[in-house]
This record gives sequence, structure tokens and C-alpha cells, in this order.
Amino acid sequence: MDDTTSAAIDRMKASPLFPFDGDLNLKTLGPPMDAELPRNGEGDKPCGSCGNDERTWWSNERWKITTVQRSINPVGLFLETVDHIDFEDFDENYASEFGVLTMHLEAAIRSLESVGRVHIHRWGDGSSHFHVWFQGRPAKQLELYGWGNVLWAQVAEPLPQEVVDANHEVIVADLSRRYGGVVADR
Ligand SMILES: [Zn+2]
Repeated sequence: MDDTTSAAIDRMKASPLFPFDGDLNLKTLGPPMDAELPRNGEGDKPCGSCGNDERTWWSNERWKITTVQRSINPVGLFLETVDHIDFEDFDENYASEFGVLTMHLEAAIRSLESVGRVHIHRWGDGSSHFHVWFQGRPAKQLELYGWGNVLWAQVAEPLPQEVVDANHEVIVADLSRRYGGVVADR
């Protein structure tokens, strides 16, 4: 490991956002793959969104809100399209609705006392069905700020289901008041 890499690792370990301690060795990148990996909903891989309506907490004709895997975050939601499309299929109407919905959903999540700020992620590597992550970051918990949240959320003990569900109920009710749409019966 060269000095620049060692210094970068030391800086990362010194950050309160980094959840691990001890000796760290940087892995070596593998060679580039022959092709991009197929995503869910591409080729023979089934889509995890289409037809799985029991995941839906709120919807209108073109958009739906579903839950992400439970974590230490008091809120974890996906904003998805109803149709099996991705960003490259958007027209300006979809783009406009996405912006307005993002504004309202962010505000609904941020209004919870247990949420300090809302992290909004677009990855797009796992599924070809449009989805954006909305993670409500716990209020006043330094380690879970920023990029630390992505790591901690994968390893820390999740909050109880009933706590997260109660938060999501408040948010989708708030969103339906702000924007319309239908809150799913649960
Ligand atoms: Zn789909």
C-alpha cells in the first residue's frame, strides 16, 4: 500500500462516520467485466417491483411508494414508477412529477421528530425498474450522518418493525394530504 492510500485509509478510520475499527487492507480491483451485469427486470431476471403490490404503501396512477429493508434508520422508503420504466424512459412530465413528489416526500419524512435529515439515493445498479431511496437519517446521531449512514445501515441492529411501520404510516398520510394519491390498506 502506498503512502497516499494509507493516509486515505487513516482519514476514513478517524472519521466518526466510519463504523469499523482495526487493521484495514485495501482490496485490489478486479479486471473490468466483459459486460455490465444484468439487473432485475432485464433478460431472464424477474422484476422485484412489477406485480408485488403488497409492498406498496401509497400510490397514484403513475407512482408508488414501497419500503426498503428495515435498518437503523427510522424511515426507509422507495419512490418507484408504477410502470416498468427507468430514467432513460422519462419524458418531461415524469421528470416534473418526480421533482414535485421528491419535494413533498422529503418534507413529509423530515417532519418526523426522530428524523434529522433525509438522504435521497439513486443507485440503479440492482433493478431496471425506476426506484429512488429515501432514508430518514436518525436525528442527532453523529455516526449516521452522510456517507456513514450507508455503511451503518447495513450492519447496525435494525429498529423494531412496529416503530418503522408507524413512521411510514404517518408519512404516507401526510403525503396524500400534500399531493393526493391513495394510502394502501394494511
Ligand atoms: Zn418492473
